[in-house]
Amino acid sequence: MAPSTSRLKILMCTSEAVPYAKTGGLADAVSALALALAKLGHEVRIIMPRYYGVNREKLEKLEGALGVPMGGGEQWSAVYAAKMPAKSGASRGNPVQVYFIDHEGFFGRDGIYGNAFEPDFLDNSRRFAFFCRSCFQLCRKIDWYPDVMHAHDWPAALVPVFLKYGERRGISSETGSFADTVSILTIHNLGYQGIYGKDNFSFTSLGWDVFYQAGLDDWNMMNLLKGGINCAGKINTVSPNYARETLSPGHGFRLDGALRYRGSDYSGILNGIDTATWNPRRDPYLPAPYAADDMAGKAKAKEALQRKFGLREDPEVPVIGMICRLTEQKGIGELFGPAYGSAWSICRDMNLQFAFLGSGETWAEHEIRSLSSRLPNFKAHIGYSEELSHLIEGGADFFLMPSRYEPCGLNQMYSLAYGTLPIVRNTGGLADTVQNYNQDTGEGTGFLFDDLSPGSIYNTVGWAVWAWYNRKSDIEAMRIRGMKKNFSWHKSALEYQSLYKSALNP
Ligand code: ADP
Repeated sequence: MAPSTSRLKILMCTSEAVPYAKTGGLADAVSALALALAKLGHEVRIIMPRYYGVNREKLEKLEGALGVPMGGGEQWSAVYAAKMPAKSGASRGNPVQVYFIDHEGFFGRDGIYGNAFEPDFLDNSRRFAFFCRSCFQLCRKIDWYPDVMHAHDWPAALVPVFLKYGERRGISSETGSFADTVSILTIHNLGYQGIYGKDNFSFTSLGWDVFYQAGLDDWNMMNLLKGGINCAGKINTVSPNYARETLSPGHGFRLDGALRYRGSDYSGILNGIDTATWNPRRDPYLPAPYAADDMAGKAKAKEALQRKFGLREDPEVPVIGMICRLTEQKGIGELFGPAYGSAWSICRDMNLQFAFLGSGETWAEHEIRSLSSRLPNFKAHIGYSEELSHLIEGGADFFLMPSRYEPCGLNQMYSLAYGTLPIVRNTGGLADTVQNYNQDTGEGTGFLFDDLSPGSIYNTVGWAVWAWYNRKSDIEAMRIRGMKKNFSWHKSALEYQSLYKSALNP
């Protein structure tokens, strides 16, 4: 019998969640969604690995070890627990319990998916297969069986596979309590699928019939995300436009066919933003608070940003901000590619300033350092900094995201909330969240371009700078319009609630 959907038991299965482990937007999304669902009255728990970076001293150790049948034997781990710290306002919801699977052999090392010497750990498929299986064993251990197992991205994609072919089907004598459990798979980035040698599959202890029935086969390799897509009750990604785009070969990363096959179960739900952390009214990283009806603080943030980055302190010159992982996905070739990227000519030809924060591919870091040394109006911090990211969002006038693809994107929404106008490629979640400037009517919240080319980026930045100097009132109106948008997780959580309901009551 389907459970009552008024108060669901939801288990988030994830490799990342703030404040414990983060490499990108996934970590923000999982925690914020969990808190927002808890606020709607659901009982939400999170399960994730305990990496070296997660301090055990702050966690509570559960009694006894967790045995997970795998690889023809049993893997043992400890389990730790903590209550997810709730942001202001979120405390009214149920507390979110987080469990950490502490397996020394698999997770007792630096790095979540890899390190500088081994960017993708060779045993990743085993590490995360073990993690997925331990989600079920943990439920048994604590005698708590979820209505919904919500798996995030390829590291958790075997959860739907285990559920469908084993845990729910009742192969093991212990099963039965997952009989009414449904699985949801959220794809935060289709570019990462977890493709490994198929010999690793034997470690799951599932039969080879399952390997083919679950569609894990991928040109004689094992594709974890593909298995999750085939087996999950419902699948979604993090914006409606990205859901549409991924159904075609151009954005489907070879899984467009698998997604089309699940078409009626596949949808897009826009991520929200953490409005407690990203709010210019109460952002501790900004020199002064500000809001749509009192923008004085934004000028102070701009001044602080210019000072911090060593740019000339000048309120009149527009500042373009950018924060990103330096990967091909973010359009860095077209922007920073040596000799052909447009960053150099943008800064040389236009009366603007550029503040960059990020790290990633070595060639790009070199190029960015080189631009910093050659251009007085281009300054960069290579590295990761919460503080600087807030200062850029608050202090910049424009925010550049020339992404090749962008499942949702957070920074453009932070920018809108901070009255910083996004200049973005018309793709994925960027297209869902930013409305293009119409210079006849003054409408819009940012500047969009279709082609990913150095010329398009150059021209669109040029257009935004032209508007800055020539259409001041449009710029001010666009800022206010952006700041009034509602990107709260509450809205997204209501949509996830509907998705859960439709999976539970097909
Ligand atoms: P992705 O998940 O593809 O990296 P998103 O825009 O969805 O891109 O989310 C990235 C998140 O990581 C944002 O919260 C962004 O501010 C943050 N971030 C990325 N690079 C840095 C950095 N160098 N310093 C601080 N925050 C960063």
